[in-house]
Amino acid sequence: PISMNDPIEERRICVCVRKRPLNKQELHKKECDVITVPSKCVLLVHEPKLKVDLTKYLETQAFRFDFSFDETASNEVVYRFTARPLVQTIFEGGKATCFAYGQTGSGKTHTMGGDFSGKTQNVSKGIYAFASRDVFVLQSQPRYRNQDLEVYVTFFEIYNGKVFDLLNKKAKLRVLEDGKQQVQVVGLQERQVSCADDVIRMIEMGSACRTSGQTFANSSSSRSHACFQIILRRRGKLHGKFSLVDLAGNERGADTSSADRQTRMEGAEINKSLLALKECIRALGQNKSHTPFRESKLTQVLRDSFIGANSRTCMIAMISPGMSSCEYTLNTLRYADSTA
Ligand code: ADP
Ligand code: MG
Repeated sequence: PISMNDPIEERRICVCVRKRPLNKQELHKKECDVITVPSKCVLLVHEPKLKVDLTKYLETQAFRFDFSFDETASNEVVYRFTARPLVQTIFEGGKATCFAYGQTGSGKTHTMGGDFSGKTQNVSKGIYAFASRDVFVLQSQPRYRNQDLEVYVTFFEIYNGKVFDLLNKKAKLRVLEDGKQQVQVVGLQERQVSCADDVIRMIEMGSACRTSGQTFANSSSSRSHACFQIILRRRGKLHGKFSLVDLAGNERGADTSSADRQTRMEGAEINKSLLALKECIRALGQNKSHTPFRESKLTQVLRDSFIGANSRTCMIAMISPGMSSCEYTLNTLRYADSTA
């Protein structure tokens, strides 16, 4: 178990990278691992290049992040250095966000713990569940015990600019912005939870709803953002909010030249939302007065998380280790680098 007394990092933005291990198919195909993590912050990409005389050499590029996790890191360790320091923020009345960014297959859903198809997947060993568990730990501590804080969760998906409720049979929801720029997702189910097991059931339900009716080849989950939120209320009034977002595969943003119109539109939407997200995180990090949250549905829905003195965010860039993913890996690392 994690002690809640470890020092808490005070910075508003934390950017990390996680490398997953080569999987069975990749090992079978003798795929090369082109990523090394020489120290706790540095990550190296060894990209094979051809010389003029057609001999090969490796070009190594170095990246520095707040943390770099190699293939031996567990979800729990990743959680400890990324989302966990943000749990306290919501008890202090702030907004926290944690994003899983990366190519399809790089480990976003695995890290968040949103894999559930009714079988025995480890929903309880992902960041959604770890964060929820620590929310209950903090809620029962003497300094927060008498604060009448109630815990709620929501779980929704943003697909092609539209919001669907994963805790209510994918009901399509409207997003409204009032004159004071407050953004509301109309009718979004907020389920009250009173223990970690309650939350696990919600994660299972929402995750099963997200992937229902999908085949791997045409998986819409790679083209949607999933957002799981833990909300603290005091006598009905919003106190703090933690949004944990499993983003659409960033390679999908390149689908803008596809022959299929639907795929093209989805690609453009993903591109737009990931660019807007980058700008919003940068604005938060640089304390800018203007946050371009209206540029996409994703950033619009998360508006209040990017604004306000007590907002903190963490980006976890997921990467595949294989040589054949090298181009996407470099894209992911450059994106993560540019948010910091
Ligand atoms: P994404 O959500 O980014 O498309 P997934 O989380 O579904 O990717 O991961 C793809 C596959 O790789 C899954 O079978 C998952 O269990 C596995 N995987 C991802 N990350 C890890 C890891 N760190 N350790 C072991 N297996 C992993
Ligand atoms: Mg996924």
